[in-house]
Amino acid sequence: MSDTVKYVLSEDRIPRSWYNILADLPEPLPPVLHPGTGQPIGPDDLAPLFPMALIGQEVSTEREIEIPEPVRQIYRQWRPSPLYRARRLEADLDTPAKIYYKYEGVSPAGSHKPNTAVAQAFYNKDAGTKRITTETGAGQWGSSLAYAACLFGIDVDVYMVRVSFEQKPYRKAMMESYGARCVASPSTETQAGRAVLEEHPDSTGSLGIAISEAVEVAAQNEDTKYSLGSVLNHVLLHQTVVGQEALEQMHMAGNYPDILVGCTGGGSNFAGMVNPFLGRQLRGGPKVRVIAVEPAACPSLTRGKYAYDFGDTGHLTPLVKMHTLGSTFVPPGFHAGGLRYHGMAPLVSHLHQLDLIEARAYHQKECFAAGVQFARTEGIVPAPEATHAIKGAIDEAMKCRAAGAGRTILFNMCGHGHFDMQAYSDYFADNLTDQAYDEGELAMALAGLPSVAA
Ligand SMILES: *Cc1c(COP(=O)(O)O)cnc(C)c1O
Repeated sequence: MSDTVKYVLSEDRIPRSWYNILADLPEPLPPVLHPGTGQPIGPDDLAPLFPMALIGQEVSTEREIEIPEPVRQIYRQWRPSPLYRARRLEADLDTPAKIYYKYEGVSPAGSHKPNTAVAQAFYNKDAGTKRITTETGAGQWGSSLAYAACLFGIDVDVYMVRVSFEQKPYRKAMMESYGARCVASPSTETQAGRAVLEEHPDSTGSLGIAISEAVEVAAQNEDTKYSLGSVLNHVLLHQTVVGQEALEQMHMAGNYPDILVGCTGGGSNFAGMVNPFLGRQLRGGPKVRVIAVEPAACPSLTRGKYAYDFGDTGHLTPLVKMHTLGSTFVPPGFHAGGLRYHGMAPLVSHLHQLDLIEARAYHQKECFAAGVQFARTEGIVPAPEATHAIKGAIDEAMKCRAAGAGRTILFNMCGHGHFDMQAYSDYFADNLTDQAYDEGELAMALAGLPSVAA
């Protein structure tokens, strides 16, 4: 039996700034467009939804953005998070590869999401926001924002995708424990929700619909702002504490990764881990192979189109250029593994376009199998989302075994799965299926992409 190898940084090593990769990229991001005029939007267009500080970060090209001291103080509750060498997994795989993982499940909500939730709550408090609206899928983001906003005395209304709301009652209880209100979406509280219900009274909901509801409420109320847990530049920026710490911990380990792996839903935990490494590469440092892993049931990076699209189903958001399956795409109901958003972060899409990262998709059963192997060797039951990264890392380690090459692999273990045990039960009972998404529905959703003059 191999010993546990854990790399721990002291509190004063919590990063003092977030890292903005836009400062190092050879090409800027395509502009965000106003859906009515087709022209680039300005800060004022976003002001009803976000505090100015976050809008500034959204468009910033500065390399280092200082982390406010109150945010660092809260980070101290669980940061720096540990980095482990997965020695028992390596032994089980009989691979010459060295596998490391950064573990973000040590946060109060059990995932990487509080890294941005705390920052967003701080800037909202500073701007006088009384209430924040948001959407949540599996409930990870809703609980993270509920936790963070509660520390700053801000109310939170969470629109939770109905199918998850019904399947995961404990996530709602967790949000309520932090004082948030959690409503099943589509709801009758908003125009957007009522419109969906009129057409599909038994709609199971989607992230796109829940976003429409949350945005609508924020846009109509002076003291209310909207918050997103992934996709946007400022969210990815806040997550870079993960990669910056990992850089230092890999240094402690006396190693540098050849291969980085992360799972991608909207792209935030992935970018948070890989961007600081890619930044080094872009500034002349060592080259890394970077792999984004997504579910075959919702394959935006591998099967989506790189095009301008809406971020939501009700078309209330601006148009962003991203890999998208179409804003009306609803991932099939059998898919248990999270990562269900129809689009991908514009920044991650851009990195893919620039050939700085590669992408691959896996079916859910092979991901759960990887997750179970990880639990039985490393002891942590991973979030279903994280099993995609584990599967990607294991596949690379097996290639090393076949080639007799001892590469160093680092992946982001973005959360634990303690609220997702139903999905594991379904896996053990062989109730999960591996169908792909419906080709016809994807074609229809893609046909509905907005037309934007080039
Ligand atoms: C929300 C979530 C994801 C997906 O979001 P990203 O922005 O792609 O990181 C992945 N893993 C966990 C544990 C999550 O909670």
